[in-house]
Amino acid sequence: MSVALRLDGKVAAAQIRAEVAQQICDRIAEGRQAPGLTAVLIGDNPASRVYVRNKQKACDEVGIHSSLHHLPADVTQRQLLDLIRELNANPEVHGVLVQLPLPKTIDEEAVIHAIDPTIDVDAFHPDNIGKLAIGQPRFYPCTPAGCVELLRRNQIETAGKEVVIVGRSNIVGKPLALMMMQKQSPANPLGCDATVTLAHTRTANLETVCQRADILIAAVGVPNLIQPNMVKPGAVVLDVGINSVDGKLVGDVNPSVEAVASALSPVPGGIGPMTIAMLLKNTLRAAELLDG
Ligand code: NAP
Repeated sequence: MSVALRLDGKVAAAQIRAEVAQQICDRIAEGRQAPGLTAVLIGDNPASRVYVRNKQKACDEVGIHSSLHHLPADVTQRQLLDLIRELNANPEVHGVLVQLPLPKTIDEEAVIHAIDPTIDVDAFHPDNIGKLAIGQPRFYPCTPAGCVELLRRNQIETAGKEVVIVGRSNIVGKPLALMMMQKQSPANPLGCDATVTLAHTRTANLETVCQRADILIAAVGVPNLIQPNMVKPGAVVLDVGINSVDGKLVGDVNPSVEAVASALSPVPGGIGPMTIAMLLKNTLRAAELLDG
């Protein structure tokens, strides 16, 4: 029985961090400012605290100045929007991320819309989604970009391939589908030239749809949804899911898929580290775009 190649996100993310660190050294040697990333964390969600801490640690490692605004869970929407306006006007802040999910009392859409799109390094603002949709991205959203980079760094071709993405969220499935279907060009280097199917809860016969994929990507949030019988022999499988089951992190893909797939990204250690690496890349890009 053959076992799939492990698409190691830790290794690829370390390469990206080293590249970003070198570019930041070069900037500083030229007398330019180190990039700065500000995180806004609201409340005490343990997972959000871990995500923000990991992002800050990665910033420190590559020479990005990181700062944190940790606000109480009962912060008002007005207070949060005032803080975002302040950050928008601060020239030392090249990137802002507001860690999701937000407390129910706060309108997530209003917060995303308030961030200046030129420092929206998560690429959630409609201006950035619109630019991505027409193939002229300012920033690539971090998790979809992490998926494409992980394929590229493992020499996995996407052009002409059948790609099936399960999950159509605004932060993963939908932007990833755009990137997968788009033409690669100097303005859109992560365009993938693939033929794309986007599946969701109303998809009829998910098993058959998944079976046609050369590259199958699960971004669902349902532990072990993708089973070996849904995977074409030799397909490449990316597992974006992060689910906690009995205190253990598991993906959306059952690990036994490794007996059918030619390559599989693990959870943990696959798309998660890639997502953080792409955030660093976006913060550096934001600083460069500001330089002109
Ligand atoms: P989301 O907003 O909850 O969206 C889930 C999507 O999956 C929806 O489009 C939903 O379809 C679809 N779906 C749910 N159950 C399904 C089923 N049984 N069959 C087919 N489709 C189904 O989730 P998300 O934010 O995209 O996140 C997805 C997963 O990725 C989560 O586990 C999340 O923790 C993880 N994630 C990981 C990273 C990372 O860095 N690795 C980053 C972001 C998210 P409908 O639209 O029809 O409801």
